[in-house]
Amino acid sequence: MKKISFFPATTFMLLLILSGCVHFSFAQQKKIRVLIVSGGHGFARKPFYNIFDSIPSITYDTLVQPQANALIASPEANSYDVLVFYDMFDPISPEQQKAYISLLNKGTSMIFLHHALVSYQKWPEFIKILGGQYHTDPVIVNGDTLKANYEHDVNIPVKVEDKKHPVTRGISDFEIVDEVYGNVEILPRVKPLLSTTHPKSMRYLAWINHYGNSDVVYIQLGHGPSGYSNPNFRRLVRQAIEWSAKQSKK
Ligand SMILES: [Zn+2]
Repeated sequence: MKKISFFPATTFMLLLILSGCVHFSFAQQKKIRVLIVSGGHGFARKPFYNIFDSIPSITYDTLVQPQANALIASPEANSYDVLVFYDMFDPISPEQQKAYISLLNKGTSMIFLHHALVSYQKWPEFIKILGGQYHTDPVIVNGDTLKANYEHDVNIPVKVEDKKHPVTRGISDFEIVDEVYGNVEILPRVKPLLSTTHPKSMRYLAWINHYGNSDVVYIQLGHGPSGYSNPNFRRLVRQAIEWSAKQSKK
């Protein structure tokens, strides 16, 4: 009796799989849904998005500011597993600020790349979210005046601070031609993932900062094609997304 009821169900499923319906929807469900936010700073789009095209575990949408902040302040934001910020943007309404904080309190995963460190100069909460900030105007931190600086096309020696963390696992110390930022304010509470001894750079090049119920990832590297094509940078981005998706509590 059991066999009789089992066979039609199996045949039906087989037909669905062969027709592509079931396989397609299963595959879609398994992919990590990523929103990539840009705006406020130019970049080489094709090689940048190629990083994400090469990650089989994700599917992604792109949004340019200010549209991204409008979406973040809407229920649509909940349809993504990970938000990746590659914007450098200042305008943000009180409602949008609340939306960022609310998402992070819920445990939504956010990754900030490179010049996202320069965003929201006038929103004091932003440094607490990201764990650091490139101040465009000099600021006094612990009695020292920090005057941030940058330099392009630098050969940067990168040390992996935490070789066991899922974001950096499998990556050995490496070199990358990229832009450095110097005299950046980094909060002492961040958990460093990468560092450098380059004299013109800030010490830490990637970290995790706990905010609300989320572990925010920041990666300083990734100005342009020389960074985008570096296999270590690509692996960092992939592992950061895959780890962040697992951490997401929304
Ligand atoms: Zn840059």
